[in-house]
Amino acid sequence: MSYADLLQIAYHEAGHAVIGRAHDPRIVRATIVPDAGRRGHVEFDRVPTDAVAGLSVFLAGPMAEHYLRTRTFAGLNGRPSFDVHASDDWSRMLSYLPTAFHWRDNSTFCLAFERTAGLLIYHWDHVEAVADALLTHKTITGAYVTALLSKHEAA
Ligand SMILES: [Zn+2]
Repeated sequence: MSYADLLQIAYHEAGHAVIGRAHDPRIVRATIVPDAGRRGHVEFDRVPTDAVAGLSVFLAGPMAEHYLRTRTFAGLNGRPSFDVHASDDWSRMLSYLPTAFHWRDNSTFCLAFERTAGLLIYHWDHVEAVADALLTHKTITGAYVTALLSKHEAA
């Protein structure tokens, strides 16, 4: 796997981790070691009960990858080209949603999208710190992320 691929995966997982943390489930661990067909994953102690928060955590992975490449979310919302279409998260997310769900018209989706975009921009330094740690250690615990980010907040 190329470094560019690893970088994408690290930012993808860091996006899930940082946005998950913003919505309160605790991170158990985050990894960029592939397993069972996944390129990496973040394990939380629970799924957010709020639909917007849950969707936001899902979207954060592909959106962080997109932001890493382009440094913008402008024009992304509602575009069929949005690369969540191609991601594992998207197919997994769709399997949870009613078949009649039209994501481009869906206000829950749009709210989650806007919230995620705002949080990712606001916490981008956190995403970078977690992605760096993932590239260095491959697997990190939730306690490690907490220590890393509180040091980051204090600095
Ligand atoms: Zn993901």
